[in-house]
Amino acid sequence: MGVTELFRKSVEEVRREGRYRVFADLERMTGRFPVARNHGAGPAEVVVWCSNDYLGQSQNPAVIAGGRTALESMGAGSGGTRNISGTNHLHVLLEQELADLHGKEAALLFTSGYVSNAATLATIGRIVPDLVIFSDACNHASMIEGIRHSGCEKQIFRHNDLADLERRLAACDPDRPKLIAFESVYSMDGDIAPIAAICDLADRYGAMTYLDEVHAAGLYGPRGGGISERDRVAHRLTIIEGTLAKGFGCMGGYIAADADVVDAIRSHASGFIFTTSLPPVLLGSALASVRYVKQHPELRARHQERAARLKRLLASAGLPVMPSTSHIVPVLVGCPVKAKLVTDRLLLEHGIYVQPINYPTVARGSERLRLTPTPFHTDALMEGLVAALVEVWQTVGLYEPLAAE
Ligand SMILES: *Cc1c(COP(=O)(O)O)cnc(C)c1O
Repeated sequence: MGVTELFRKSVEEVRREGRYRVFADLERMTGRFPVARNHGAGPAEVVVWCSNDYLGQSQNPAVIAGGRTALESMGAGSGGTRNISGTNHLHVLLEQELADLHGKEAALLFTSGYVSNAATLATIGRIVPDLVIFSDACNHASMIEGIRHSGCEKQIFRHNDLADLERRLAACDPDRPKLIAFESVYSMDGDIAPIAAICDLADRYGAMTYLDEVHAAGLYGPRGGGISERDRVAHRLTIIEGTLAKGFGCMGGYIAADADVVDAIRSHASGFIFTTSLPPVLLGSALASVRYVKQHPELRARHQERAARLKRLLASAGLPVMPSTSHIVPVLVGCPVKAKLVTDRLLLEHGIYVQPINYPTVARGSERLRLTPTPFHTDALMEGLVAALVEVWQTVGLYEPLAAE
């Protein structure tokens, strides 16, 4: 078999299982969020229901203005790595803003949230000899990659299971350094970690803590500092990690921690050192976005209200909305082929764009739609969505098996 055949064959397997990924070719339009122009099959315009631009910040005029000013006054590229001519004053300001957001001494920017997780976790493992990392079973791929590269012993505890975590901590040599790595809002089920209780265990067993707030930064807490701010436990966490790409509507990742921790990661993390720093346009827009989000709690209140309303509407229409204690609204399909049928029909017949979520992002048999209503999804849009889902559920034959369960 030739090499080309191997590539084709690897994709054939994905196709056969019905989980071949097709990207929607969309063009987002400033001022029209959540509507986008559709360059693929189907209507010319679609309503986006699966964006991680949770607050619509990508199109906030203040955020666009921040980016435009920086682009026009400082140019397109940053000019280098952070160490070699690529530290722009905006990096310094944004890191101060993020440290303040999470109540930490310092923060450090990365190219993305993925890189911040992978680089930081791998580096901690190399700095702290004999470290054991306790990792939640549902942690994101970027954390798993970082832990793998850390070379440390890894203990995977059952998702959000304090008893399993404690059993593993207790079984570990008390003299070995430990780190508990977990997320606040889990993005596929929309459930939330018991952060305070995990910090209690960390105190009892002398462990450090690493919290991914990617799906909560900007969205929870009085100033958008995430679930750790909402629960008043930010000071108890060793490292808080976040993204500028979701709640803040831009791009880039970061960690916030004590100055000594940040200094060590800054000095040793390959994924931080050997890559060009974020450009002015991103820094200017992200800085404007973080500042805006801090000052606008009513945006977070409206976001939560929209999610609660959508959950109620789906449940009263008899649609299988999964339990979620956050802004994420998962709807169970349970089969990759049907998930694709459902989303194709939603797009082609109803102008509603939802990407199906399949294995390996979620477990086989739990394929789903993952709806993310934003402050800009109106009552009318929600009613249109629910009516379309009911029609598609009937057409695809999903109502009956669910009713029979
Ligand atoms: C999206 C995501 C990341 C990666 O963030 P990016 O900025 O998109 O690279 C990290 N952790 C979790 C839990 C995520 O869902």
